[in-house]
Amino acid sequence: MPANNQQSIETIAVRAGIETDTQHGAITPPLYLSSNYSFAGFDEKREFDYSRSGNPTRQLLGQALADLEGGFGGIVTSSGMSAIFAVLQLLKGGERILAPHDCYGGTFRLFKSYAEKGLITLDFVDQTDEQALTVALEKKPKIVWIETPSNPLLRVVDIEKISQLAKQQGALVAVDNTFLSPVFQKPLLLGADIVVHSTTKYINGHSDVVGGAVVAKEKQIYEDIAWWANCTGITGAAFDSFLTLRGLRTLDVRVQRHAKNASKLVDYLVSHDQVEHVYYPGLVGHPGHDIAKKQQSGFGSMISFKIKGDVEKVKSFLSGLQVFSLAESLGGVESLICHPSTMTHAAVSIEEQKIAGITQNLLRVSVGIENVDDLIDDIQRGFETALPAEANRAASGPVAVSC
Ligand code: PLP
Repeated sequence: MPANNQQSIETIAVRAGIETDTQHGAITPPLYLSSNYSFAGFDEKREFDYSRSGNPTRQLLGQALADLEGGFGGIVTSSGMSAIFAVLQLLKGGERILAPHDCYGGTFRLFKSYAEKGLITLDFVDQTDEQALTVALEKKPKIVWIETPSNPLLRVVDIEKISQLAKQQGALVAVDNTFLSPVFQKPLLLGADIVVHSTTKYINGHSDVVGGAVVAKEKQIYEDIAWWANCTGITGAAFDSFLTLRGLRTLDVRVQRHAKNASKLVDYLVSHDQVEHVYYPGLVGHPGHDIAKKQQSGFGSMISFKIKGDVEKVKSFLSGLQVFSLAESLGGVESLICHPSTMTHAAVSIEEQKIAGITQNLLRVSVGIENVDDLIDDIQRGFETALPAEANRAASGPVAVSC
């Protein structure tokens, strides 16, 4: 049952599917694992017949996400990548997509591989560069892809403005809203047509499900994408949907706490003399700060920063950490740290990484909901490990090579 439009995001998330069980009155919705459903009689299909095409548990999650994003309907997929793949199916052979040059590495790889196979035409541009964006839009893309804040450098672009420009050229606008979730940003209300999530991240929030979702503003686009999701078999599993729906109920409290911790950690990082630069849209000096303030209701909890020094210093910094886990992914309750160049963006060539601003001394942090003082102490421990190691390397000088 779609949520009442008047309800706030916290209520929609908590109440999704609550008390919908008419058989026993279960408070939380049951998990339907059955792969198939009987027909009521000859040629009498019920609402569900086969779980790839439709499943009651998955449907609840899809509707909840659509209600949270303000869209017509939501399609739950097996991963964030399959959600992006589903949106690509809207393109006919050779049609053009315009994507940010610093989008998530998996998105970059998918679009590039499709273009190399001749299935689509592709332009990667720095969407913060107005002139480059205007030139690229004049080529009349069918889809404009937006990821804001972007991964890993947290560049922010104006969804409303790009949507207006894209519409003038007849393009659809799709926004990857993974980094903020609908709690902090609602792209469909800013003019986008499609929202994509890796629900693996904040939506599920507990690092125990890989999943994705597409939310479409209009019925036709929803139906087209749902058709392709069924046709290609990328719809999400029932158990994953059940867990994700459970995670979703606490989305608001989680992301508020994540963001509060992130803001304190940023304060610490910006004042640290071993930090070259901090990327966080909540900082007044961040180039996208004003746009973020306008279009987001929170700055999120992804931070990137550059350590003063080389990759060796980064390695010893990481070896000193005891609380942060060195891992890809983000958005779980636990704090993670990653080295984008060799981890999340390893599929992007070093030349393309350079263009996107990804360097060897860059680290990306997904701030969890632990006690923030423990997180700050841990980062401090990293620096305390890195500094003597760097001094030792300097003292021993260049390694002698014997012939
Ligand atoms: N979009 C963004 C912004 C991501 O960070 C990721 C994964 O890290 C994806 C999409 C892909 O999601 P998944 O790993 O669930 O396929």
